[in-house]
Amino acid sequence: MMGDRDYRTIIQSALRSIGKELEIDIDSKDIQTIHLQEVVQCLRRSYYDRIDPEEIERRGFNELLTGLLRKLEYGSEPKIFEIDDIKLKGQVDMLVDDSILLFRSASTELENPLANDVLYLNACLWIYGKDDGIIVYITADKKETTFSLTRNKKMFEEVVRRVRVLNDLLKEEKTPILEPSTECSECQYYERCFMKRRHSKQISLAEMMGMGKKD
Ligand code: SF4
Repeated sequence: MMGDRDYRTIIQSALRSIGKELEIDIDSKDIQTIHLQEVVQCLRRSYYDRIDPEEIERRGFNELLTGLLRKLEYGSEPKIFEIDDIKLKGQVDMLVDDSILLFRSASTELENPLANDVLYLNACLWIYGKDDGIIVYITADKKETTFSLTRNKKMFEEVVRRVRVLNDLLKEEKTPILEPSTECSECQYYERCFMKRRHSKQISLAEMMGMGKKD
């Protein structure tokens, strides 16, 4: 009978299994290989992911879009960019007519692309030796927003700097500093960095003023 089953738990576990399958395969011991995804997100999060990981809670199937496309390797094998003795490994979602395409899910239509997606795309342009690329955001109700980007050297230098920083901190076993941003609210390490999340109860103005319903 439908009502007897906890479908939310079943869906969560399906999401977890598919999500695990689609995750970037990072060998946490190989600190001389840094993945591009690790340096465009908060370095502290990437450090915890390698040293003392916690599972991320996924909220919907559209979050899996990027991983799915990566897995299908639409003309794009992962590529390595050598930075002295460190290998920076990146992978685009799709390579079409010499242009790089990234696909990302979004909760609403965006005015501007997200900073970490711009850093990711720009670094891919350097790693794959291409001049321009596109980020396509797709919402759950199938609305698309597209942004194009021409490669920028300064922005790539910032990624290279972050690669070196993460590599050094992993070598020295030092936790990176906090990088507070909107990413924190979705991060599985929020409680480690800040405090325990509280789930506050909504209270109406009438209740606050002692005018709530009486029994
Ligand atoms: S909560 Fe914020 S600062 Fe802490 S690891 Fe996550 S993203 Fe980084």
